[in-house]
Amino acid sequence: MSSGKLAFLREEYLALEKSSLDWKLHTLQGNSAPHCVVDGKKVLMFCSNNYLNLTNHPKLKEAAKKAIDTHGVGSGSVRPIAGNMDLHLQLEKRLASFKHAEASLVYSTGFAANAGLIPQLTGEGDLIISDELNHGSIIDGVRLSRAEKTVYKHCNMDDLERVLKETRGKYRRMLVVSDGVFSMDGDIAPFDKIAKLASDAGAITYADDAHGDGVLGEKGRGIASHFQIEGKIDVEMGTFSKAFGVVGGYVSGSEDLRRFAFNKSRTWLLSASHPPPVTAACTAALEVVEKEPEHLENLWKNTRYFKKELKRMGFDIGNSETPITPVIVGESSVAQSMSTMLYDEGVFALPIVFPMVARDKARIRTMMNAGHTRADLDVALAAFEKIGRKLRVL
Ligand code: PMP
Repeated sequence: MSSGKLAFLREEYLALEKSSLDWKLHTLQGNSAPHCVVDGKKVLMFCSNNYLNLTNHPKLKEAAKKAIDTHGVGSGSVRPIAGNMDLHLQLEKRLASFKHAEASLVYSTGFAANAGLIPQLTGEGDLIISDELNHGSIIDGVRLSRAEKTVYKHCNMDDLERVLKETRGKYRRMLVVSDGVFSMDGDIAPFDKIAKLASDAGAITYADDAHGDGVLGEKGRGIASHFQIEGKIDVEMGTFSKAFGVVGGYVSGSEDLRRFAFNKSRTWLLSASHPPPVTAACTAALEVVEKEPEHLENLWKNTRYFKKELKRMGFDIGNSETPITPVIVGESSVAQSMSTMLYDEGVFALPIVFPMVARDKARIRTMMNAGHTRADLDVALAAFEKIGRKLRVL
């Protein structure tokens, strides 16, 4: 037990536990898949970001195994010293082509991309304008910058316009940053309008497309393709950890952006590069997404059916337009009970409660997977309906 100068470790944890804000970790035994084993029980997975079910795709696994044989298991270094492999360059070329961008740069994670690049794009004398519900990695990137910061109301274009008008001409550079798809609600930022307003004001646009790449737009090319504004978002950031089923962050844009980003981002310069199997699996994921459209089609077919049925039952599913569907139940305790009862019925979906969402907007956040069959969805829907009635949510 910690004591003395480390006594706070226990005290702070106990305070979290008392307010039910501590994380209780669940354990996957085996792979992350639509049918999996969590804490010793077979369940249907409804809360992973594995949208296209690529985590176990044979082509990704084969590419990873092959890369181990040809390149080993580690890169041995950060990229600027001795860890820049041909595999990294192949991945970045492939990614740029997928994103219809001039160039791309891969970071170890999406978090590292936001935390490393945002503070370099802006500094003293600049202003960052951020959606109030942006992801924590953007918030940390913003905090690391010496720029001034302001937020606009969630997806509210009148408010963004107001901020841009009030601040025009007062700063050296301005950066407007937003998630493309918001991970708690599954709603989509109006990037067509954001890009237009920002461009009129001379501000740089930065989209975090972590939940949009592989999911939105033609062939899953993301938010810019979704709004048909390719080339109009200055910095597109994304991740390989969600629809692409692997791990790794990236930015896409101009060649100037790529060179600037890798010369300046400390999370890139000072952190080891992706190991070969991961890098090769990411490249294979892009190939699969381009050549096998059925995964994206299944994802959306499942998403439409699941949302339609939840709505028909009378659940409040908020404003989601994506495979992230919140089932909003109100009180945190109800969301927590619902999640436990779902698990008992063989459905794994976790509650999202205050402070991640407002006190009266606690929810079960469901994430769709292209690999779910109609029968899987029906099992989950029947469980939601039964429990929803038991808990008097319906
Ligand atoms: N941005 C958003 C919107 C995210 O949801 C996440 C992952 N939770 C990240 C960035 C970070 O991505 P990664 O898992 O690659 O670090």
